[in-house]
Amino acid sequence: MTPSPIDCRTAAERLWEYLDHELPDGPLEELEVHLRACAECTPHFAFAARLLRDIRGARSNDRQTEGIQSRVLGALRAEGFMAAHS
Ligand SMILES: [Zn+2]
Repeated sequence: MTPSPIDCRTAAERLWEYLDHELPDGPLEELEVHLRACAECTPHFAFAARLLRDIRGARSNDRQTEGIQSRVLGALRAEGFMAAHS
């Protein structure tokens, strides 16, 4: 079965599940096809993956993690990643 094409907005909605390895096979395949073809999403996903790694590295202190999460969201907005929702 050929995965159906998805747009950047759909890819963005699947970002966190993808990074958490929680996407089922179908949506995962659609996303990977999109990422291979889309020059715009690839840097966003690499950026988010790096941030997520930083968050996990800092998770030993719960109070700090909250601050880091809002910093991450702010950084994603600054990168234009959340703009698709407006
Ligand atoms: Zn895209």
